[in-house]
Amino acid sequence: MELGLRGKRVLITGGSKGIGLAIAQALAGEGASVGLVARDAATLAGAAEKLAAHDGVSVATADADVTDPAALGGAVEEIAARLGGLDHLVANAGGTIGRGDLTTAQPGEFTATFAFNAGHAAELIRLGLPYLRPGGTADGGKAVVIISSVTGMHPAPRTAYATAKAAEIHLAATAAQELAPLGIRVNAVSPGSIMFPGGGWEWFAGNNPGLFADWLARDFPHGRLGRPEEVADVVAFLLSERASWITGANIAVDGAQIYPSARRFG
Ligand code: NDP
Repeated sequence: MELGLRGKRVLITGGSKGIGLAIAQALAGEGASVGLVARDAATLAGAAEKLAAHDGVSVATADADVTDPAALGGAVEEIAARLGGLDHLVANAGGTIGRGDLTTAQPGEFTATFAFNAGHAAELIRLGLPYLRPGGTADGGKAVVIISSVTGMHPAPRTAYATAKAAEIHLAATAAQELAPLGIRVNAVSPGSIMFPGGGWEWFAGNNPGLFADWLARDFPHGRLGRPEEVADVVAFLLSERASWITGANIAVDGAQIYPSARRFG
């Protein structure tokens, strides 16, 4: 299927590794130019080098902490200037800050986790709007994807993360209505647990082999975790005009995973 993404310009937060880098690779493979935002400049440079293999694709990077709205704003401006504008946004950065469960969290950790996930996604949309609506007209063809999680759909540890991810799904649904008159579509993608080298689940499996094996046997009908590329392909489709009538949706990419976390309360 031709997605028509060639020449489109896409900003991806957390694009230097994991799911974000896989999204950048899928988009660059479709001929889109990509702008990556993350904190560590060296990791960003490594990611840009990998993406340079795609002919005719521009790659820009900006090191910024997405939880700092001023820094995120600077990164959006820098990437838009380097790519000559922006057509699409992917709010991918996210995770838990601190312990994450109310019984163990330090003061402020819930708020920080909420800001990292849902807060940065909302700020990114706000900051990206001037680029996505040139002239303020409803020209269409622009889209945003927010990377949530199946933990935002089914309650599971950790509480702060689960709540923030649920808010991201609602943010996509609500922003889809608010931005429809501008011709901008907004969707959420909710991955199940995704395995990749250097990722959280690889670390968990290495440190808790028994728990991991039990979880795999019990909660994964296909007998494996997901792969970043399987999430990335769905994001590329949702950004493309081939998904022109999908907006406000939340698409689970989870291989029918039964329970969203290896951890359980209590
Ligand atoms: P990783 O931890 O592997 O990568 C996170 C990316 O975000 C890196 O590029 C990292 O770079 C960047 N990042 C982290 N903190 C910040 C920050 N404060 N400011 C800017 N960039 C930041 O994450 P995953 O690929 O595992 O997850 C990506 C998204 O997918 C997240 O929203 C996560 O919640 C969601 N998800 C992940 C699942 C999984 O199983 N992995 C399952 C379901 C959802 P740097 O550290 O240099 O800043």
